[in-house]
Amino acid sequence: MSNQTGTLFIVATPIGNLDDITARALKVLQQVDLVAAEDTRHSAQLLTHFGIQTKLLSYHDFNERECDQVLINHLLSGKNIALISDAGTPLINDPGYRVVRAAHQHTIRVVPVPGPSALICALSAAGVPTDKFVFEGYPPERHAARLRYLEQLRDEKRTIVFYETPHRISGFIDDAVVAFGIDRQATIAREMTKKFETICSHSLGELQNQIQANKIPQKGEFVVLVQGAPDIVMEQSPELKRILGLMLDELPLKQAAALTSKITGINKNELYDLGLKIQAKNISD
Ligand code: SAM
Repeated sequence: MSNQTGTLFIVATPIGNLDDITARALKVLQQVDLVAAEDTRHSAQLLTHFGIQTKLLSYHDFNERECDQVLINHLLSGKNIALISDAGTPLINDPGYRVVRAAHQHTIRVVPVPGPSALICALSAAGVPTDKFVFEGYPPERHAARLRYLEQLRDEKRTIVFYETPHRISGFIDDAVVAFGIDRQATIAREMTKKFETICSHSLGELQNQIQANKIPQKGEFVVLVQGAPDIVMEQSPELKRILGLMLDELPLKQAAALTSKITGINKNELYDLGLKIQAKNISD
């Protein structure tokens, strides 16, 4: 047994277009003793494509703890390992963080080899603010839980990034319209780097129309970005005051605020306060 421990390389691989592999990723995958992959059949195709013959080890063949231990034992015995996932950057909505943590605990060197990730790829092409964003991964699958979850994000000021699947994208957009309002800007990034890549940036209402009209096919892989809540100086927005004023002509304040919130995506408590001011002004006029 060698008294020098190996290195754990965390290697990003393409999310579709194989030309996106980096020169460094190829070198590392070639030179390590083992490549640890989620699905060895899938990753064997990647390695074969690039003529790489490094032995593959599946981290699905064991339960998670056994797997971490197997990898750590190999590293402690001096073997260098590259960890890859089925696509993109390992650990980003993919397994691996436990083995990375265990490696740090054993003072094994961990080296990231950066490359594609659907999250960053979508952010780079969406045209929404990217100085601050939150990554939410996959939202809940079922409508009621998803709507509750999205409503909690309504006042988030940063751009919100979600991963979605083809059979849930339509329901997700329907719920996003309710939670954030039809006017909130959003982007659907579908099949990025692949033949049928589609990147659509519109209001949520327009994206909903395009999905319903099948202009955005419900096939393939999806990232959805929703722009953060607007920083409106509400009292200076004549349009907002007009909408809320019209609601107040027909409805009690609480309902008027709630309905205006659904339409605009603005927090209903803030609209309630604005409604109070509008009512007070109407009385004093
Ligand atoms: N580790 C990956 C990464 O770095 O992006 C993410 C893995 S996660 C299990 C898979 C999800 O990523 C898909 O369901 C989809 O939401 C998103 N995704 C992956 N590749 C994509 C692509 N080419 N276009 C759009 N979304 C993609």
